[in-house]
Amino acid sequence: RADLAMYQAKGAGRNTLRFFNPEMHSVLARRATLEVDLRQGLLDGQFFLQYQPQVDDNDKVTGAEALLRWRHPQRGLVSPGEFIPVAESSGLILPLGQWVLEAAARQLAVWARHSETSHLSLAVNISARQFRDPHFVEQVLRIIGQTGANPQRLKLEITESLLLDDIGDAVATMTALKSHGVGFSLDDFGTGYSSLSYLKRLPLDQLKIDQSFVRDVLTDPNDAAIARTIVALAQTLGLGVIAEGVETQAQRSFLAEHGCHAFQGYLFGRPGGAEDLLAQSQSMA
Ligand code: C2E
Ligand code: MG
Ligand code: MG
Ligand code: MG
Repeated sequence: RADLAMYQAKGAGRNTLRFFNPEMHSVLARRATLEVDLRQGLLDGQFFLQYQPQVDDNDKVTGAEALLRWRHPQRGLVSPGEFIPVAESSGLILPLGQWVLEAAARQLAVWARHSETSHLSLAVNISARQFRDPHFVEQVLRIIGQTGANPQRLKLEITESLLLDDIGDAVATMTALKSHGVGFSLDDFGTGYSSLSYLKRLPLDQLKIDQSFVRDVLTDPNDAAIARTIVALAQTLGLGVIAEGVETQAQRSFLAEHGCHAFQGYLFGRPGGAEDLLAQSQSMA
């Protein structure tokens, strides 16, 4: 059939042919191109970090989350929602994730040299594949050593997907880094697979309430109940809690009334350059 593209599935047996419709074929072709472009982009320095402020009850900036950006030479800015999955499935997340950690640690070291920014923490997203890499601990410690970043200011954001693996391995990796002062936040919390007994075993510092619960926290009683439950859970486990995706004063007030006192979202600032974060820290000082 002319409208069926034939595609030899990667990883399937050599003689396995699979049939895809043209639409699926173009998705695959796009992914393959992205993969080649990602590799080149890493070599050509097309990646950069943006920083989104995290604030406390007094609007004081306490830190930021580093968010990866890719300026593609032809396509312009490509969103991480598109390229991170490709980086993960191709394994490119390992060198890319290392680049992110290095850039973030260098930024922390710069902040440490100025009194207005020396208190800032920086949260870095770590994909499950990166976290599982046997050299991960060693790499993080090497980067900290080389940049002179203060590990106490570095917070690694992991997701519940890690809990699908051997929990003992996850605990060991986290414990090794925590012994050097590195902190851990559980990102997108509430959307994954956590069982409470696993959660109790992980040496976490913070739960991050997923933005999907924050969005309708004022209008959807289920989301409100989930947000309140996450705050209570964090308190019970002795963990910090931060809400992401906070866009309105009303959302923020609701969360604060229910015990959440750390926030991130467009209400406080979009992801931007380090100079924007510096300006915001100064205006609040
Ligand atoms: P995330 O870690 O949950 O990051 C939060 C996302 O929400 C970011 O999207 C941020 O720009 C967006 N956001 C922040 N405040 C608001 C708000 O008030 N409203 C709304 N609607 N959105 C808000 P972004 O930058 O597109 O990143 C998407 C995801 O890509 C991240 O979700 C994270 O999972 C992944 N990602 C980003 N950078 C990295 C990285 O360096 N490494 C890895 N492994 N993943 C990354
Ligand atoms: Mg995150
Ligand atoms: Mg998140
Ligand atoms: Mg998210």
